[in-house]
Amino acid sequence: MQNDRIGPQDTGWRSCPQPISCDAALQLLLSRPFTNTPETIAAISRIQNALDGRPAGPDAAVKMFYDLEEVLFRGELRRRVIVRWASNVNGYPLAVPLAPEGAIAITIPPGGYRQPRAAILINALFPYRISLIEIVGFVVHEMIHAWYLVHCGGDIGDDQASLPGHDEHHGYYFFSAAESVMMNVVQCLLRDDITRGFTLAFQPQGI
Ligand SMILES: [Zn+2]
Repeated sequence: MQNDRIGPQDTGWRSCPQPISCDAALQLLLSRPFTNTPETIAAISRIQNALDGRPAGPDAAVKMFYDLEEVLFRGELRRRVIVRWASNVNGYPLAVPLAPEGAIAITIPPGGYRQPRAAILINALFPYRISLIEIVGFVVHEMIHAWYLVHCGGDIGDDQASLPGHDEHHGYYFFSAAESVMMNVVQCLLRDDITRGFTLAFQPQGI
């Protein structure tokens, strides 16, 4: 599992880029069309193999983080964001609302939960009755939040909640990014036979 204590003084540290606006961060994501580099081809192959019907525990979704961010987020999140299990993820913003068990995963800004980097925390106490492909959907959902945290100075403010189904953390910026990411997942990442069941955990409109 990744070391959640690595800070600016450590060799594994990777600084976040100069902060930009949410508009600019969205445009940056949208302006990076899928490309078949050797790295992305290898990453896609590993993801498909992991999802190819063989038994796999929830850890598989965590282990896929680097390949998922290579394909969908162009390597911008690696070493800037950690993914790990946590026994208590309630009380933080950006939670995926899955009552009554609580949030399955949340993304917290740098400095939160006593770690220097942004973090995706997966609820270790959540009763995992859902499939691996659904867990991957949750991780990718959180990676969209992490994209804005990494590019917008660790403070994404209030998203523009302008449509039914939006909330302060899942508004115009989240859903615009989600639509692009979902398109890449469906068109480029997962074969038809293993795409079934993949959602970004919100059934967002238009996706
Ligand atoms: Zn969310």
